[in-house]
Amino acid sequence: MSLPVSTPFDLTSRSIAYFSMEIALSPSLPTYSGGLGMLAGDTLRSAADTGAPMVAVSLVHRRGYFRQHLDAVGQQTESDVPWSPETTLPGAGKVITLQMQGRELLLRAWRFDVVGVTGHIIPVFLLDADVEGNDPWDRHLTDHLYGGDTYYRLCQETILGLGGIAILNALGCRPEVHHMNEGHAALLAIGLLEEHLQGAPLRDASEADIQAVRQQCVFTTHTPVPAGHDQFGLDQMYQVLGHDRATAIDRTGCLHNGLMNMTYIALRFSRYVNGVAMQHGKVSQDMFPSYPIHAITNGVHAATWLSQPFQQLLDTEVPAWRTDNQYFRSVYGIPAATIAATHRKGKLRLFAEVQNRTDQRFDPNVLTLGFARRVATYKRASLLFHNPARLEAIAEKIGGLQILFAGKAHHADNAGKGLIRDVFSAAANLTSSALKIVYLENYDWELGALLTQGVDVWVNTPRRPYEASGTSGMKAALNGVPSLSILDGWWIEGCAENVTGWAIEDGETEAEEAASLYDKLENSIAPMYGNPAAWAAMQRHCTAINGSFFNTHRMLAQYFGNSYYPSVATPETIAASASTIAIQDAVLV
Ligand SMILES: *Cc1c(COP(=O)(O)O)cnc(C)c1O
Repeated sequence: MSLPVSTPFDLTSRSIAYFSMEIALSPSLPTYSGGLGMLAGDTLRSAADTGAPMVAVSLVHRRGYFRQHLDAVGQQTESDVPWSPETTLPGAGKVITLQMQGRELLLRAWRFDVVGVTGHIIPVFLLDADVEGNDPWDRHLTDHLYGGDTYYRLCQETILGLGGIAILNALGCRPEVHHMNEGHAALLAIGLLEEHLQGAPLRDASEADIQAVRQQCVFTTHTPVPAGHDQFGLDQMYQVLGHDRATAIDRTGCLHNGLMNMTYIALRFSRYVNGVAMQHGKVSQDMFPSYPIHAITNGVHAATWLSQPFQQLLDTEVPAWRTDNQYFRSVYGIPAATIAATHRKGKLRLFAEVQNRTDQRFDPNVLTLGFARRVATYKRASLLFHNPARLEAIAEKIGGLQILFAGKAHHADNAGKGLIRDVFSAAANLTSSALKIVYLENYDWELGALLTQGVDVWVNTPRRPYEASGTSGMKAALNGVPSLSILDGWWIEGCAENVTGWAIEDGETEAEEAASLYDKLENSIAPMYGNPAAWAAMQRHCTAINGSFFNTHRMLAQYFGNSYYPSVATPETIAASASTIAIQDAVLV
């Protein structure tokens, strides 16, 4: 078979390099696990649409994250998702050598092109350690996304950071800005320091050397959950990185509580740091008081998440939406009933797929809730079932209720797996035929799109303040779907009560929060759903108000203006602009 040929690519003009451990590049490639990878992919898709001078680096993940299997009681098992980059993607044409674990590691890369609406390309280099000549164990280092133990993980983060800088270098790419998407990529700073010192020992790096690297790095932190910040024992740090790099990390003040902490490396070596929603910026500022932390609220790539029927409607009514998402505001020029009818097509498509996968028949005239996300304890998938009797009573009273669940637990997260079984058993114990509940297997890109385009209300019940942003509710909003959610993450900014959705009120206990959820369902949501004109107006508000803001076109523009190329007012720039005004005034006189 003929392989795709690597076309020459001018990388010298690419001034921003985006580093991420996972990137969702295509529904058919298993190179992502969840929200972080989706955000990375959506960022690059918007960069391609808007002609941004970017390039990106990640790992190839030859065996993927995993495919989820659920048995009759909701017990999760996992299987690999192997794929073959050599028959799928062109090679980057270079092999580099990385010193790690006290030996040499050969790395190559595969190139995935993210192609924008005008044909602009963002090349993504997927690093691959499965190279002949490598130690047999090392050849598997780029196989499993978030697999293995901490030693395996540290090797992967070393490959991403140090290998990423080396491969860009080998390809003639010298970016001005390096964006660490999460602390996983922080070791790129050590790679830049090595370049800067040109062979001199890193442990002798001066503060000026560190400043030179800081000028080239920006960092986005993604979670207030402490376990989400990778840390490694010093023995592993010395073993994997070697004595010189490890000593430099220690001496530059990057250790925290006696451990090598990726977030602290990223903080120390970045000139700009941000959280992913306004509230998350504040929470992160409290976690890391010695570093100024800003906020840029996440978004989603509209053309990726908008249903086909909505895309057709907008292509007719406001075709400029593809390059400029601000035009989502213009859906106010489309009759609300048309928005509602367009949404219904997504609902029918979802229900056809549910029947296909599960043999369960859902009624398109019945109010349908969606709840799909990574299954982590703080996300509290079972809050909806806090009082099953009340939920059933509401379903009876309002003429029926349907709920679709989906979500994977990390393969080593037994508590998370227990939560999936809890949802199964709660559903099995229901007695009312007015309430229908289905848990769909293997939540991924395609299922995420189907669900956010097809349900009536998107539900999110995290324990505050652990939801840094959340993006699935943004996908729903674009498609005219309101949210019912705890006021955390993006929803603090996106919730206009009874206009774009509903807030679950804060409570002292889980019982109080569940009660608020039930109250909203019974007294606000169901009555509005029973009034088609009011519901259609709400659907249009979701797209107009939230779709026009919570997208990655807007988000990327904020990264450019605030993080990559900030136009910061300093005393010098203010003095300079004042003298320009004085000159203009003098000319006018
Ligand atoms: C959008 C998306 C996510 C992230 O959504 P959250 O709201 O952050 O939970 C995770 N997984 C998939 C498959 C998605 O499409």
